Amino acid sequence: MALIQKVEVIPVEFKSTNWDQSTALIKITDENGVYGIGECDGPVHVIESIFSMESAHMWSMNPVEILLGRDPVETSAIWNDLYEGLLWQGRQGLIMFAIAGIDIALHDLAGKQHNIPVYKRLGGAVRNEAVPYMTLYPDCSGRGTLSQLFKEYEVLFEKSKNMQVEAVKLAIMPGENISDNQLVQFIKDARNSLGDDMDLMVDFLYRWKDPYDAIDVLKKLENVNLYFAEALLEHDDYVGHKLVSSKTATRICGAEMATSFKEVMQWVENSGVAIVQPDINRCGGLTEVKRIAQYCEAHSIQVIPHGWKTGITASAGVHYHLSTPNAKYFEYLHPDLYASPMRRDLVKPERQMKAGRFVKDLKPGLGIDINQSFLDLHRSK
Ligand code: MG
Repeated sequence: MALIQKVEVIPVEFKSTNWDQSTALIKITDENGVYGIGECDGPVHVIESIFSMESAHMWSMNPVEILLGRDPVETSAIWNDLYEGLLWQGRQGLIMFAIAGIDIALHDLAGKQHNIPVYKRLGGAVRNEAVPYMTLYPDCSGRGTLSQLFKEYEVLFEKSKNMQVEAVKLAIMPGENISDNQLVQFIKDARNSLGDDMDLMVDFLYRWKDPYDAIDVLKKLENVNLYFAEALLEHDDYVGHKLVSSKTATRICGAEMATSFKEVMQWVENSGVAIVQPDINRCGGLTEVKRIAQYCEAHSIQVIPHGWKTGITASAGVHYHLSTPNAKYFEYLHPDLYASPMRRDLVKPERQMKAGRFVKDLKPGLGIDINQSFLDLHRSK
């Protein structure tokens, strides 16, 4: 048994035109010098301050104080202590992001200490291959014409087919300022370009305030056979999601921003969605997403996590999917389909995909390590 000796938050910032400009890297080292890595998708210097705040009392603790001297194998017990010890700062939002980063790092460290992969720590593989859906965002800026955007998408569709990807998700940025009828035509054209063999998802990026607008578009898309429709309405509009779910045959998603099991419970009880999408690096980590998945399994709801950031979150998604029955897919940003040096280079090695899937292996922990030369260049002060 080697106890936790050091906890670091390393802010990483990479100037780019996309949404992946920064990550809060969490590195937890034991007394033998073995370390685990995690990350969370929050404003990096705010996350940093959570780790340096002073302890005031039992419900307002510095998380590092909770971690030092603990056995990293006890991930769930440590998670509980963090949840109790940070009560004053809040049990949703950025505090849960920080707990998520810690939890991912602890699973990685415990796996490395005991030479087992994270999916075994999560209960073992229920499948031999993790099956990603690829998110395709050619340009997050919302600039350019719709036909230019479609041309960029066609390149990504072709690449995805060559990689034997089984499912892709596209998104139309609100900045494109297109009508609902143009949107319907765009998605129909995308289906024609992709063919019928691939699952197609659409992220509507919180497009509508009125649920009936969303219902109208989804009815026009019934022949397109969408696998799911994401972010139709405002994130916390449970009533609206319930209405849309009751009026359409398409699987409706929600909860991509949800932090904690208890926030997801609100979705399950009130929204009627078929799929929830909490992000592993925001919702409370692997410990919490597994708890969410078990709860949702009892309600016939899939948990297909949002997965937006670097190779750390991508790898956490692989281990989650290998160990979780009620998820047909998990979101994956593939560096060949998403132009992001930070996604491509912060950690190594990039997991190799075979025929659109990731075969399980026996590499300990998450199976990745920090690419120190990239980190040295892009860590921010
Ligand atoms: Mg989304």
